[in-house]
Amino acid sequence: MHQLRLRLVFAASQATPPRVQEGCPAPAELPAAIAELKRQRNAVILAHYYQEPAIQDIADFIGDSLELSRKAAATEADVIVFCGVHFMAETAKILNPGKTVLLPDLDAGCSLADACPADAFAAFRAAHPDHLVVSYINCSAAVKAQSDLICTSSNAVDLIKQLPPEQPILFAPDQNLGRWVQRQSGRDLSLWPGSCQVHETFSEQALLQLKLDHPNAEVIAHPECQQNLLDLADFIGSTSSLLRHAAESPAPAFIVLTEPGILHQMQRALPDKAFHPVPGADGCSCNTCPYMRLNTLEKLWSCLNSLAPAIELDEELRLRALAPIERMLAMSR
Ligand code: SF4
Repeated sequence: MHQLRLRLVFAASQATPPRVQEGCPAPAELPAAIAELKRQRNAVILAHYYQEPAIQDIADFIGDSLELSRKAAATEADVIVFCGVHFMAETAKILNPGKTVLLPDLDAGCSLADACPADAFAAFRAAHPDHLVVSYINCSAAVKAQSDLICTSSNAVDLIKQLPPEQPILFAPDQNLGRWVQRQSGRDLSLWPGSCQVHETFSEQALLQLKLDHPNAEVIAHPECQQNLLDLADFIGSTSSLLRHAAESPAPAFIVLTEPGILHQMQRALPDKAFHPVPGADGCSCNTCPYMRLNTLEKLWSCLNSLAPAIELDEELRLRALAPIERMLAMSR
């Protein structure tokens, strides 16, 4: 599985980024030009917290997977520009088949979604015929279509607790999140062995050093992190709940164990508090999601200008993937 992930990451890093179109305005003029195109297209820009700050600053909505799926389900815009990764834009298309859904860079994939190929997942399901399949939203439409219920890191524990106690459950694709949900819910889950390359890279040694350097700081962590890091956390939760917790906690500083894109909103909302990202092992910058960062303001302008690249889905697959997402939205209200 690890080798497969490395191959896929290598393939993503070798992909040729789409060319920014001719006529793209200069950087200083891009925000105004994007706003004008957005008006002409009746478009809405949804951005994940892991997007670069310049994109977050011009988005109509910023959020985590659950919040953005809700926005995608409710929007009246004709065009949805999804500044995130492929499975997120795909989810928006599943919910809005009649709308144009754009992803600024079609190569913006996800190592976690790639770690769960649909055919291998079908074999795993077949080996667990009596299990209900709960899949984290970070998976392809083809895996969603094989699932009974979709969840996000915001609602996973709550949804699992709503399932009958005697019901065996298969959880995919993130094993770290799955283990955390097991501990929180008290339910025994059969886990697909996938993980996120970014959340698996944080250095425990660097975290311990940060704790020594900032003794008043709380450690806040996303449940996709490995257990040895979660054991050192004061608070564990989804990206949105990390932001909420930082606002509600009296602590003056936080050591943040998730993709550092979230620090932009944390610093903006809480300018008097300090936030320290945890580096990757060996001090590499691999704590930044390489897929999320493929989107740029230039590519955002280009996709609004040309209405491409757009997400397209086979209708039969879309309908099968829609049912477990709608179940999630209904159960998490
Ligand atoms: S941070 Fe991890 S789970 Fe999120 S998009 Fe990047 S690779 Fe996927």
